[in-house]
Amino acid sequence: MIPSTARLREQLESLRDDELVVLANAALPRPGAHGAHNIEKVDIGLRRGRIAFVTPAGRDLGSGRRIDLAGRMVWPRFADIHVHLDKGQVLSRSGPSDGTLDNAIAIIGKDRAEHWTADDLTRRIGFGLQCAWHHGTALIRTHIDSHPGQWQISWDVFEDIRRAWEGRITLQGSSLVPVTLLRDKDYAEALARRVAMAGGSFGAVAFQVPDLRELIGTAFSLAARYGLDVDFHADETGDPKSRALLAIAQAAQHYGNDVRVVAGHCCSLSVQDAQTRKQTLDAVAQAGVGLVSLPACNLYLQDRQGPEKSPVWRGLMSFKEARTAGIAVALGSDNTRDPFHPFGDLDMLDTFRLGVRALQLDDPVSRWLDTVTSGAARIAGHTLPEIAEGHRANFIVFEGRSFEEVLARSEADRIVVAHGTVLRTSLPSYRELDPSDLPG
Ligand SMILES: [Zn+2]
Repeated sequence: MIPSTARLREQLESLRDDELVVLANAALPRPGAHGAHNIEKVDIGLRRGRIAFVTPAGRDLGSGRRIDLAGRMVWPRFADIHVHLDKGQVLSRSGPSDGTLDNAIAIIGKDRAEHWTADDLTRRIGFGLQCAWHHGTALIRTHIDSHPGQWQISWDVFEDIRRAWEGRITLQGSSLVPVTLLRDKDYAEALARRVAMAGGSFGAVAFQVPDLRELIGTAFSLAARYGLDVDFHADETGDPKSRALLAIAQAAQHYGNDVRVVAGHCCSLSVQDAQTRKQTLDAVAQAGVGLVSLPACNLYLQDRQGPEKSPVWRGLMSFKEARTAGIAVALGSDNTRDPFHPFGDLDMLDTFRLGVRALQLDDPVSRWLDTVTSGAARIAGHTLPEIAEGHRANFIVFEGRSFEEVLARSEADRIVVAHGTVLRTSLPSYRELDPSDLPG
């Protein structure tokens, strides 16, 4: 008889801490493994919330209660290193944008000025984290709008929430402001100091302005002085002349190993001529800058042609060329249910599925799983637990037995194990975001 996922969940929930249990016939992703679909059939031993062993399936180990996974895939928990929890979930009050980046920026600016109190941020960020946690995410780096007047509120909220979520999701924060705001040196310095206090990264939106190099230099020198990583939004446009990424890579080379650097979006790469693109990618590789592609948001916003015309260019960076050049690459969720992207649920399986389809990451798929797990975490300077002997038991059990089966369905009833415990969460109701009734 085929063991149902519900039955399997029951069995996993009933584990005793001191008991040795063998999850038999699991399929682990193995980029280099022989056999169908780049998976390896294994038995996984669990005891006291840790992985006691991982052996080829069927090897007789004598003791231990066996739970048959019947070939189900087991993946590590996810890393989502580019999200905007502070913007998320505002859609019902802000309304949608017209689908362009400029209009989304204008709408969120108005919403920020009118609504972003500590209570409002706490409620919406908490909602997003509950979704991400339920879907199996272990690490999130969130960009924090840090405009004058807002950063004092938002970074306090971020630190409180990070504390509240400790042990469930590792939270990193990165400041986010238009790079032109860094012209105000006093403000830039005060912000860097606050980010340093919170152990965050220093970030800005880099786009083509005459003093771009100087502004990027300001960001790097502050980061170096305060010991911060930097994380830029770069070239989120279809204009091939937008070359902020090159300027970031050249600044990163100048600062060497002192500053860890990440850049997200980098859309204009894929509309540049081959020589220009190669020059940038070579500089990025030499500087050790990690790149993050955000398929949901960029497919939605880029090449928006209005209500009567379809997009032609699909807005994504040259992801495969970046990896071929030796650059560490990741996928991220970016915006969720806000004017930048009205959909999404902080589900990295959904993001990975979209990335695989939109960027053709099936050569084979196993080669790219690290862009939403360990490889993504490394770009953010973090190490995720592996499915390997001695590590805390952190993994996701899917119904599918191959990448094709897992990616075909939503896998809404996947089983998430975090630090040895099966999650019994449910997704938060959208009604939690409704304005609360006024007293009396
Ligand atoms: Zn973003």
